[in-house]
Amino acid sequence: MTTTEAVTADATEAPSTFDSLNPATGEVVGTHPIHDAAHVQACVAEARVQAEWWRDLGFDGRKKELGRWRALMTRRMDDLAAVMSAETGKPKGDALLEISLAIDHLAWAPAHAPKVLGRQKVSPGLLMANQAASVAYRPMGVVGVIGPWNYPVFTPMGSIAYALAAGNAVVFKPSEYTPGVGVWLAETFLEAVGRPVLQVVTGFGATGGALCGAGVDKLAFTGSAPTGKKVMAACAETLTPVIIEAGGKDALLVADDADIAAAAEAALWGACGNAGQTCVGVERVYVDERVYDDFVTELVEQAKQVKAGPGEQVGPITMPKQMDTIKRHIDDALARGGRALVGGADAVGERFVQPTVLVDVPEDSAAIKEETFGPTVTVTKVADMDEAVRLANDTTYGLGSTVFSAKQGMEIAEKLRAGMTAINGVISFAGIPNLPFGGIGDSGFGRIHGPDGLKEFTYAHAIARQRMKPVLALTTFKRTAKAEKQLTRIVGALYGRGGKKG
Ligand code: NAD
Repeated sequence: MTTTEAVTADATEAPSTFDSLNPATGEVVGTHPIHDAAHVQACVAEARVQAEWWRDLGFDGRKKELGRWRALMTRRMDDLAAVMSAETGKPKGDALLEISLAIDHLAWAPAHAPKVLGRQKVSPGLLMANQAASVAYRPMGVVGVIGPWNYPVFTPMGSIAYALAAGNAVVFKPSEYTPGVGVWLAETFLEAVGRPVLQVVTGFGATGGALCGAGVDKLAFTGSAPTGKKVMAACAETLTPVIIEAGGKDALLVADDADIAAAAEAALWGACGNAGQTCVGVERVYVDERVYDDFVTELVEQAKQVKAGPGEQVGPITMPKQMDTIKRHIDDALARGGRALVGGADAVGERFVQPTVLVDVPEDSAAIKEETFGPTVTVTKVADMDEAVRLANDTTYGLGSTVFSAKQGMEIAEKLRAGMTAINGVISFAGIPNLPFGGIGDSGFGRIHGPDGLKEFTYAHAIARQRMKPVLALTTFKRTAKAEKQLTRIVGALYGRGGKKG
């Protein structure tokens, strides 16, 4: 019996079920309940009970418990990787890399929570010098997490690990394509910790919608921008705060002083790794005209070595309906004057898409403007890095970005409108637990990972403690005219000087 079944065994009638399929073969790999609103509410009610126990464990107690879960997850990595590969089709090596990064975050979050969230003294300022001021970041209570399928462990764990480390209980609704991964996480948590502080609910959009309306204290959503808007609208009904981690259309910029072979390798992996189904994957490349030909030659040579198929480096497209989007983007690019140097119109098969490199694609085409989420990439020649920055920033999204340059990496990165930038590497920021992860615009808002990611699942509690009587008694009806005059004089002396132009 899963955690959630245990919680609501007699709260609702037996729910109907759905199958989880292997996208590489179409075979059924698991059958899971479609949880309804009553079940979701019962889970949130149970989470509220668990949240108190969890909060009262304190930072040290939670670190110990999360350490047990981390160790169990690490020992069973192969088992988890098998569930992930079966449900998404991703090669085992990719699954192991994803789990390793998630485990690193699961270690970082509880280890750093005391310093980031614990009560800290702050200066009371001159006017309130008689006070001792401090702030602490408290758990919100119950956090709902709604996840996608493309990185079914790494992505939701960016919210789950940080929400738990901050002292919250979590109810997790995994994607309908990867319910088995969600169940695996909740079951191993229960085995390690002994209490269902993390629960899972399974089902489709309606189950996610029910979680938005179930009275959680915060909702962390990762998925597409259109669904993010629905989640935000549903959460608005109850003034439930949200984090939205949505899609992207990330660009990689290649300057004339870049290591061309390394840039091409990064572009290829960034575009085709996980079959291109990466929110921070490389979808567009802008190359300085002085090195454009060399870059394209190198990229084409490398891309020709990479194949999609069973047992190949590029796995299947997990969501069958995505095939139409990928094909539409390639066809549109070709119909509008673009050329495919690798792959192309025939690259889209029944379950797999071959790596595709497109050049001469107009900037207003779907392949440049919309998230493709397949192993395709456009390469565009630019006069210089100013033009590259302008085109890279000309998107409604603003998630990740990449720069290749020997000397101007930082300078170019500072001009990019994106939540994250990797210089002379690709997607490197996601593996550094100290760095916040998230975007702006249609890529969403709020941050997971790092100190910002811990604070995201808390509320600030400020305390001002009077240490001694104030020199001027101002917050009383006994305030005197003399005190008011003195205040004006002090403020004038402190802030009234300077600031004039010229
Ligand atoms: P999706 O938006 O289709 O679904 C995401 C989740 O939302 C699923 O669990 C789904 O069941 C649920 N859902 C659907 N309708 C809902 C509703 N009305 N209310 C509540 N929940 C609902 O996204 P997807 O196809 O699973 O994931 C791919 C998308 O996720 C891509 O756009 C990708 O870029 C993005 N993504 C973003 C990040 C990030 O950190 N920014 C990470 C991974 C994926």
